This record gives sequence, C-alpha cells and structure tokens, in this order.
Amino acid sequence: MNYPQLSLYIDGEFLHGNGRKEQEILNPATHQVIGQLPHASTEDLDRALAAADLAFQSWKKTSPLERSKILRKAGELMRERAADIGRGITMDQGKPLHESTGEVMACGEHAEWHAEECRRIYGRVIPARNTAVRQTVLREPVGVVAAFSPWNFPFSQAVRKVSAALGAGCSIILKGPEDAPSAVVALAKIFHDAGLPKGVLNIVWGVPSEVSDHLLNSPVVRKITFTGSTPVGRMLAAKAAGQMKRSTMELGGHAPVIVCNDADLEQALNNLAPFKFRNAGQVCISPTRFYIQNGVYDRFVTGFLEKAQSLKVGDGLKEGTQMGPLAQHRRVSAVQSLVEDARERGANVLLGGAPMPGAGNFYAPTVLSDLSDDSRLMREEPFGPVASMIRFDGIDEVLKRANSLPFGLASYVFTQSSRNAHVLSTGLAAGMVSINHLGLALAETPFGGINDSGMGSEGGSETFDGYLNTKFVTHLN
Ligand code: NAD
Repeated sequence: MNYPQLSLYIDGEFLHGNGRKEQEILNPATHQVIGQLPHASTEDLDRALAAADLAFQSWKKTSPLERSKILRKAGELMRERAADIGRGITMDQGKPLHESTGEVMACGEHAEWHAEECRRIYGRVIPARNTAVRQTVLREPVGVVAAFSPWNFPFSQAVRKVSAALGAGCSIILKGPEDAPSAVVALAKIFHDAGLPKGVLNIVWGVPSEVSDHLLNSPVVRKITFTGSTPVGRMLAAKAAGQMKRSTMELGGHAPVIVCNDADLEQALNNLAPFKFRNAGQVCISPTRFYIQNGVYDRFVTGFLEKAQSLKVGDGLKEGTQMGPLAQHRRVSAVQSLVEDARERGANVLLGGAPMPGAGNFYAPTVLSDLSDDSRLMREEPFGPVASMIRFDGIDEVLKRANSLPFGLASYVFTQSSRNAHVLSTGLAAGMVSINHLGLALAETPFGGINDSGMGSEGGSETFDGYLNTKFVTHLN
C-alpha cells in the first residue's frame, strides 16, 4: 500500500490542491518524503466554521439513537480498515505496525462505548416545593467544538474527541497533528462512509498557532479540547477562558512508578519494561520516574536492563520490530539534551544514552540511575525511551517525592501489601493510579489529569460532561 492521499475535510468534501500551501510529510524511520499535506486557507477555516455552525442546528436535534447508529457503524469501519490505517500511522508516526493496528482496533471500542453511552445522557427531575411546579434539569450540547489532537496516538486521540462531541450532539472542527496526519484523514473517511451528515465533522490542517487563533477567535466555537504539552495547553486554556469558552485539557505527565519490597517482581518487570518503551516512550502516561525500594532495587534494575537490552529497534514496518524511531527529529535533540543534563549532574547511564547511527530518528532505549533531584529529567517529561531508576527507603518518603512535581496524570504501584496499596492510592496526587497491572485508557474508564496535567476527563461515563450544558427548567402548570 502506498501512503494515502492527504486532504482537508470540510462540509462533507475532501479537499486538496487548488493552490493551497502544502507541507511535506516525512517517514521518521527513513526521512523520506511520503506525502504532501494541504494547509487550510483562511477561506477554508471560515468555511469549516460556517459548515459546523449550520450542521449543529440540525445535529443537536437528532435522537441519541440516530447518533448511536453512526458511531457504532464508525466503530465497525475502524476494525475493518485497521490494517490500512495502521500502515499509514507507522509510515508517518513511526511506531511498530502491531502498535499502530492495535491502536485502531482499540478505537472500535471507543466508538462503540460512545454509541452506547450517548443513549444514557440523562437529565433529572427535582421535587418542587409547590406541587404545581415541575422542575427539570436538561443536558444540552454546548455547540461547535474546536479540537486539537496530538501526533503520538494520531488515531485514538482524535477518535476520543470526535466520538464525545458527536455523541453529545455537538459538531466539531478537528485540527489533527500535521506531523502524522494520515490517521485523521482516514477517520474523516470513516465517518463520511458511516453516513454522518455534512458539516458535523470537519478536518483542517495548518500552522497550529494560526489555526487555533482563528478558530478560538470565532464566536461560533463554544468549546475547545486539546491533547498535547502543558505550555501549549495553558496558553489555549487562557485564550478560551478569555472568551468564556469551555475547555478540556489532556496535558503532559511525569508518571511515578513505585515498586515496593513486597512487589511480585516478575509481574512488575513483565508489565513495566515493554510499557516503558511502547511508542518509544512518547506516551503521556508512560512510566518515567521509577522509584524502587532498597530491598529489590538491584534485582529490579538488573531485570529491567535485560529486557531493555533485548528490544529490537528498527523501522516499524519490518517484522519483529519492537520499538520504532521517535516521531520527529526535534524529539531526538530534546531527549538527548535531558540525558546530557542528567549525566552532567552525576547520573550513571546504564544503557543507551544516545541517538542511534544511520537514517531515521532512532534513539537507543536508555536506562539511568543515581539521578540528582535537580536534574531536568526528574522534572521535565522525557517523552522518549528513557527510564530513570531511583532508590527509596520508606513509603512516606516516596509519596512525598512522587508528589513533588506539578504534574498529576498517571501513577503506578507494585505491591502485595493492601496497606501500601491503600496509602499510595489515596496519597498519590494523580488523576489515575494503576496497581499491580497497567489498566489505564480503556473506553469505559475515565482518563484525565489534575494540576498541570490538565482538566476534564475523556472516556468513562464522564466522557460527555465537557460537551454538555446544564439547563434548569421550572414550570408552573
Ligand atoms: P509542542 O508543545 O510544540 O506541541 C504539542 C502539540 O500541540 C502538538 O500536537 C502541536 O501540533 C500542538 N500545538 C502546538 N502549538 C499549538 C497552538 N498554538 N495551537 C494548537 N495546537 C498547538 O511539542 P511537540 O514537540 O509537538 O511535542 C512534545 C511535547 O508535547 C512533549 O514533551 C509532550 O509533553 C507533549 N505531548 C503530549 C501529548 C499527550 O498525549 N499529552 C501528546 C503529544 C505531545
């Protein structure tokens, strides 16, 4: 299969060419140009706004059952097309093919979950003080949504936003990741083929700050949703707040994993080593700070190194590849500067610690120990294949260290003690805690962070909260 034709999707039409500015798309494993991405002109953005505004007027009146049917059909098409979409993701984002197709298959569940759950967007009746009065609470779609989805999970992050908006009865303009666009174009085709009315979903591309400024400045947009870095999220949330637009923010993390002396070490290693290097560590819930209790530190680090050393790194399209390149060249220098800083501050590089020779954005699986708390790697999200090993003595001490950053997304605990599990799950300042396994990011469970990691949840029964207004109606008969 060749790399797919890239396009905008506005008012039910796939658009490219016609003098639009284009951006080259590179394969991160080879640096070869594989496609051209059309940028939206100002007229395209205005057309998307007008189409979304008009489509919202009728989409908000559709029954949940009708919306559910389209979402369910979209889920079926995701599964049917997973192999082709996955190949496109590996070509422009770099992750191994099994991870790409797995991402698309899992999205079938996300679409289905939203199809089911949108039929349960309930209001309520509040008993009135006067029996002639009927007090009801209605939940209504907020309006046109502007969504900004990232490049690390180009399909699933877009699916979560689009499914939630459509299920709630909102129309949406999505700016996908320009670095890895094929999955989002495929998503537009899926909803087009599933029978979504024109204008309800629109896809645009461009210079991120220009597109977001244009969309946020429009009074048509009533809500924004963004997944990406904390600095960009903070800036977009501030702009949205200035115009009283609602926002959902899924931002960065720096996930602590706490492995206690009483942990089942085999279970911890079998879960954590592959998970750390999944998508070359470019995952907001990737474990990044490994706090290992003294009694098991040496055995854990030895076991982790063995697994990390044996990873097969290469082009994601090749059979047997377990870790692909980083998605962009800028990530290689970003990761390298964090590792260099840690080394200068006394850290030991136990494995890797450098870009790999040859073409492509390959960075070696890296394990560090003896990091000083003031190294940048202990404070900034590495977003790469880097694991930092840190010793600890007691539970109170580790809780304090784990909670010492402004981030609060994912956290992990491995322990056989119910007391440790209780103290840590209640004490960790994070939106998600996973104990003795990796159980995050399922369609039926809420996903989201606190503090600098963002606000609002995607997935679970909370998934529509950010897309609905609450209206109170009181009626004297
Ligand atoms: P970046 O901060 O430049 O961009 C992050 C994302 O925001 C990208 O998808 C980008 O297209 C988008 N973006 C940037 N400026 C924008 C604007 N003004 N308006 C709308 N969207 C805008 O960083 P990057 O180099 O692309 O990624 C690296 C960092 O981003 C990582 O360190 C990581 O913290 C974060 N990130 C987080 C997630 C996540 O899942 N939470 C996903 C991707 C990237």
